[in-house]
Amino acid sequence: MTRPRLDNLDQSTFDVVVIGAGATGCASAKELAGRGYSVLLIDRGDIGAGTSSRSSRLLYCGLAYMKPDYSLWKMPLRPLDMLGRIYRAWLTMRCRTELVRAMPERLTRRKFYFPYRERKDSGYPAALMSLGFRLLSCFGSRDAPLGYRRLPFEKAGRESGLVAALRSGVKSIGAFYEYQYSWPERICVDTALEAESYGACIRTYTKATSLEKNGKGWRLLVTDSAPGGSGEARISARVVINAAGPWIDQVNSHSESGGSQREVLGVKGVNVLVKLPESFQGQGLEALSSRGEPFYIFPWGDYHFLGPTETRVDADPDDVRVSEAEIAYLLSEANAQFSDLELKPRDVIHAWCGVRPSSTRDGETLSGVIQLNEQPETPGLISVTGVMIMLHRHAGRLVARTVARRLGAGHNGKSKDKGSKRRIVNSFTKTDIDRAVRTEHVVTLSDLMQRRLPFGWDADLGKSQVEEVSRIAAEALGWSEERRQEECKVYDDYVSDHFIHR
Ligand SMILES: Cc1cc2nc3c(=O)[nH]c(=O)nc-3n(C[C@H](O)[C@H](O)[C@H](O)COP(=O)(O)OP(=O)(O)OC[C@H]3O[C@@H](n4cnc5c(N)ncnc54)[C@H](O)[C@@H]3O)c2cc1C
Repeated sequence: MTRPRLDNLDQSTFDVVVIGAGATGCASAKELAGRGYSVLLIDRGDIGAGTSSRSSRLLYCGLAYMKPDYSLWKMPLRPLDMLGRIYRAWLTMRCRTELVRAMPERLTRRKFYFPYRERKDSGYPAALMSLGFRLLSCFGSRDAPLGYRRLPFEKAGRESGLVAALRSGVKSIGAFYEYQYSWPERICVDTALEAESYGACIRTYTKATSLEKNGKGWRLLVTDSAPGGSGEARISARVVINAAGPWIDQVNSHSESGGSQREVLGVKGVNVLVKLPESFQGQGLEALSSRGEPFYIFPWGDYHFLGPTETRVDADPDDVRVSEAEIAYLLSEANAQFSDLELKPRDVIHAWCGVRPSSTRDGETLSGVIQLNEQPETPGLISVTGVMIMLHRHAGRLVARTVARRLGAGHNGKSKDKGSKRRIVNSFTKTDIDRAVRTEHVVTLSDLMQRRLPFGWDADLGKSQVEEVSRIAAEALGWSEERRQEECKVYDDYVSDHFIHR
């Protein structure tokens, strides 16, 4: 479908307007439209261009959710907290199975290793960690097994070059499987297109700038935020889903009575891409960092990512960038794991960051907790926080149930998963690219390079492909040579601004 004109949307009414086309908003729109509600999905930028394009790309097993943030001896004194953690780990494994069944072509299974060191080095007894893995194994399935085994170090070292290179002091190794999204932005695009196939209206580069109570519903002012775009539209909605990720509080502040309460806390994460020895290829490491946080080394083609970091940030998420100190920290964590790695800043190929939209209670972040918030002074304006990409379908169902409680069941009842019309899988012929440009809401060259095609996440950040792709886009969209060159420059500027690229 082509992008609707903004003046055609003026004065229109929807059951639900979803603000934000990241993983949360796309899944919500898909679930709501599938149940028969009339839905408008808008984003101030492109589909999947916010935090959803900044993830570490792991569909992980949820071990970290079971890690208490207090002394181990207090665990028996906090049974409800521990049950909550186990529930989140169970949910993660359940969602992992769901995604592996639903979109196998978007996921890659990887062998991961967890080194059990002396307790003084990790803070956790190996037996307790191993028990956690065994519990997770019970939550797995035949389609997406954890495949956990605890192996003597020497045996694991014969099986894996990555394990063999670990620094001394490792007592044994946990070997298991994790999954990786080859392309999370495309998962958002697939989901949005599926929502569209159920009747949802999608408009990218459309910013929600004001929200007003209007009887029992809401009236939104939206403006065109496409490069060179202009115009605005007034739209009515019975319910508004605020799925604006780390920008949720900014959106709420556009409502005359909302925004008084903080609903989202930003947690900055950084990842860096490096080239590790050939013997590490295809294998990943999961460990605890010197700060006691989960630390991953995960394969990405012929390369590996290191990360992430976790730092609370209050700055505008648009202004958050990677610092050299964060790169140095991640390199030192990787070097601490291996005897001879000795990674230096010059070994970094590129680095990027994002801001997780974490749920909050009493000013603290709630790790892995999804919240649907509706403040008493803004009924029908519901914010959704804390959604990891791996939980996006679950979040969509929570949103649909909440909307059904307000509006009654949609006329289709429960949505049936028809499976998205994934037109692009792993071949990127001129015909595929041309079709994506014409039918997948492409507005800029960056939309195409980074979110309809995977080139933007290559080691060279798509620089070797941009010329050819821009020519195909120019032909399909009728861009002049001047506009094509301008799009290439904007793409280059975006990459330079958002990535550290050596
Ligand atoms: C470093 C890092 C590593 C991570 N690793 C993983 C991982 O390995 N696995 C995993 O599952 N998750 C991971 N996550 C978490 C995951 O990326 C996020 O939790 C998830 O993408 C949040 O999706 P969202 O849709 O809620 O927000 P977003 O993707 O940020 O979407 C919000 C959208 O709202 C739009 N918006 C904002 N304001 C407006 C407005 N006024 N009008 C219209 N639109 C607006 C934005 O443009 C944006 O597209 C990671 C996150 C980070 C930062």
